[in-house]
This record gives sequence, C-alpha cells and structure tokens, in this order.
Amino acid sequence: MSEHRKPASSSFDLDSAIRKIKDFPKPGILFYDITSILMNPEAFGYCVDRMLEHYGNRDLAAVAAIESRGFLFAAPFAYRLNLPIILIRKKGKLPGVTYKRTFALEYGEDVIEVHRDDVQRGMKILLVDDLIATGGTLKAACELLEKDAGAVVQGIFSVIGLPFLSFDKNLKGYEVKTLIDYDSE
Ligand code: AMP
Repeated sequence: MSEHRKPASSSFDLDSAIRKIKDFPKPGILFYDITSILMNPEAFGYCVDRMLEHYGNRDLAAVAAIESRGFLFAAPFAYRLNLPIILIRKKGKLPGVTYKRTFALEYGEDVIEVHRDDVQRGMKILLVDDLIATGGTLKAACELLEKDAGAVVQGIFSVIGLPFLSFDKNLKGYEVKTLIDYDSE
C-alpha cells in the first residue's frame, strides 16, 4: 500500500490546529473544536501517530471510543493495530442489549451505553475521547467497561485535556495521556 500522507513531525504545533470558540455552547465556555484538526491532515496524522507511538506496543484487546468525536481518533488507531472498536454511545443509539450508566452533568444528567456482547470479562481496553474536561464522561465509561462488563481499562487517551477542571479526581488510578493541555479558560 502506498503512503499518501506526509508523516507528521513529532514536534507539530497542535495548538495552532485547534479552533477555539468563545461562549459555545453557552456563555462562559471556551469550546476547543477538533473539527479544525480533522480538516488538517497533518494535524490529524500527528494525533494518530502519537497514539500509535504511545500505545503501539501495549497488550490491548480492543479500543473503546466515546460518542462522537472519540470515534474519529479511535478508528484509524484501531485499524492500524488491527483491534476491534467498541462504541460507547448516548442513550438509545445502540440497537442491541446494553449496559447503561447514568452520570451527572453540570446541569442535569446523561446516560451512556455499550453493547453487552461487545465487551468480554478481562478484555484489556484503551479508552479514547477527544477532550477531557471534568472526566465525568470517562469515569462513567470506565464503570461501564469495568464494573458492568468486567473488562480492564489499560489507559485513557484524549487529544485535549483541561486539568484545571480536575479530571484527575474522577480518573484516579488510571493512566491518562493527552496531547495538549490548556490551563485555564
Ligand atoms: P467531561 O465529562 O466533563 O470530561 O466532558 C467531556 C465531554 O464534553 C468531551 O467528550 C468533550 O467532547 C465535551 N467538552 C466538555 N468541555 C468542552 C470544551 N471546553 N470544549 C470542547 N468540548 C468540551
């Protein structure tokens, strides 16, 4: 197979490829938009290459990705490592029998689900999302995979981290890898 993409350098300026939008989806939030990474093949390649570099030699049985932006980074990684992709989706999107977890949002709550058939006991899984804010979504995903399905989360990958929102508290005990962190809004 030919290589169509110029390999990204390991010192790529990822910050310049992330669009920041003030007051989205509501006043006071600075939204870190990864669609600008997707529009920039060098930036996207940089992200997937760093994932491959970091996890390429790990003993993994599957990649689990969180709806919907997590899917985009998990898919090329899983393809390159020949791993299955487990989709963690919002309530009502998965057609089969699921495990469900309800978790608190800033206002209200949300539900995520995974197909029961997709996750086996003891399965070693890398969990992927695009951005970690409070870590609440990823914590619920860890509970789905580990407490409900009996799998083992080997690591958590996210392109962007917002450590000032203290995601480390929600994700205690997990190895979390991000490619870029923003310290304040
Ligand atoms: P959390 O559960 O608080 O870690 O929120 C994580 C999810 O919300 C991620 O999947 C992000 O896609 C989205 N999110 C939260 N805050 C932001 C932000 N400032 N910019 C972009 N996405 C965000």
